[in-house]
Parts: sequence; structure tokens; C-alpha cells
Amino acid sequence: MRDLFFLTCGGFASPGLAIRPLGEAALQTVTMTNTVAVVVRDSGDLVLVDAGWDGATCEAPAREMGRMRALVLGVRLRREDAIASQLRGLGLDPGRVSAIVATHLHLESVSGAIDFPNAEVVVSQSELKAYWDAPRRSLYRARDLARSGRIRALVLDGTPTYGFPGSVDPFGRGDVVMLDARGHSAGNVAVALRGPAGTFVHVGDAVYQSWEFGLAKEGPSLASRQSAWHRKELKRTYDCLRACQADPRRPVVVPSRDAEVFARLPHTPRTSVTPPANAAHLRAGD
Ligand SMILES: [Zn+2]
Repeated sequence: MRDLFFLTCGGFASPGLAIRPLGEAALQTVTMTNTVAVVVRDSGDLVLVDAGWDGATCEAPAREMGRMRALVLGVRLRREDAIASQLRGLGLDPGRVSAIVATHLHLESVSGAIDFPNAEVVVSQSELKAYWDAPRRSLYRARDLARSGRIRALVLDGTPTYGFPGSVDPFGRGDVVMLDARGHSAGNVAVALRGPAGTFVHVGDAVYQSWEFGLAKEGPSLASRQSAWHRKELKRTYDCLRACQADPRRPVVVPSRDAEVFARLPHTPRTSVTPPANAAHLRAGD
């Protein structure tokens, strides 16, 4: 791949009690990211890992998702936070997004797919099944995939790698590999990305914050526990995340919502010739 960088589609504000270790920062508000990885192919085509919120939701979150849900999720969004809008600001054409690899299909990860009409959505088969079977009050929303022309569901029956028990290489190039990280949802995947600046594993919501899978202060946080599809599987995935960090390729584990990890990631394409219009906003996250 030519380039790999990370954007955040707005953020979330959460009570410390829900997302920090017991007794730490319980009364503070913790700001979290909604991290999206952007792969730039040598051809100029783009591949996203997750798509964030769609443009309409960024503009009017309460109108699009309901006031109560927006409040409970603690969403922090502005119109310019939509990933399509940020790509334009970086001089990249959203029409060149050829694929979105979804870590999972919860609304904050995949509703933005609607803004990329030329993209196929690549997802694990078990996640797609959970999505279609979802009860109305879950974090899945049927309309998010309704306008996706192409959905490719894959079984993660490939060899164990990066510390995870199952994998699949959706494009057959070895630089984007989906890994079995279920627990947060039924078919949550992590996505290993080998780019010019190193190897990163975008784990979606498999874990919200890095401390949760560490050994010193063991998670899950209250928020992770309450939103988990299966708590035992969630803990199994934490074992995988520890093994992943110890992998000889030294991958950087990137949870969707960890602002401290996000701050250390590349945020612009290294080969861009157009100065980003929203550079000030991006620097605020550095
Ligand atoms: Zn989720």
C-alpha cells in the first residue's frame, strides 16, 4: 500500500466511572475517539476500516439517531467530522473508496457506508448474520446497509496469526488481514494493516481502551461489560490482544475509542500534496 493513516469521526464523552479502571477518574468525563483507518492503494483507490457516522448524522445527531440514543452514547459530532468530508479536505476523492472493511456493524462503525456508493462492505459472516437477526433495541440499524450495493461476508477460517485464532485475507495481498476478535459483538473482527509507517491492528470495539486488556489493571470496563455480546468471548479476545502485542511484527493495537492511542497515530497521508483544509482540527487531536 502507498499510505496508511487514521481519522476520527467525531468522538464520545463518557463518565469516567463507565470507562476507566475502578477508582480512577470516576467523576471526570473521558473523551473517546471513533477511529477509522484509511488505506491508500498504489492505484489511488482507498480502503477504509470502518466508516464512522454518515454525513447526515454528523450534521444532526439527535434528529438521525434519536435524542435519547445520542445522549446515552455521548456522541460529539460536527458536520465536518464525516469521513467523506475529511477525505475531501485531505484532497482525496470519497468516490475512490472501493471497500469498507467493517470491524462490526454497530451504527457508529458502519452508518458512514452510505456516503461511499462505490464501496463494497466486507464483514465477517457471523457479524452479518447477527445484524440481520438483530432485535430493534440493539446497536444495529437495518438502514445502515440498506443502500450498500455490495456486501461481502467472509468466514474467518484461515490460519491463526497476530495472536488471533482465525483470519481471512479479503483482498489476497497480505497487507489487510481480518482477525477473529468476537466478544463485543458476535462477529467483531480486528484488522491487521501493514503500511509504510509500520504495522497496526485496528481492533474496533473489541476493547474500548487499552488498559482493559492489560494485566496490571484488568478490564473490562463497565461500558465494555454492559455492551458485550458475550463476556467470556470478550475476555478470550483480551488474551488474543496481549498475544498480538507480543507478536514479532510489533503491531500497534488500535482500539476505536482510545484517544491516547489515536494521538500517536499518523493522521494525514504522507504522499498528499494538498494541505488538509481541516488541519487545525486534526492537530487538535495530536
Ligand atoms: Zn460496537
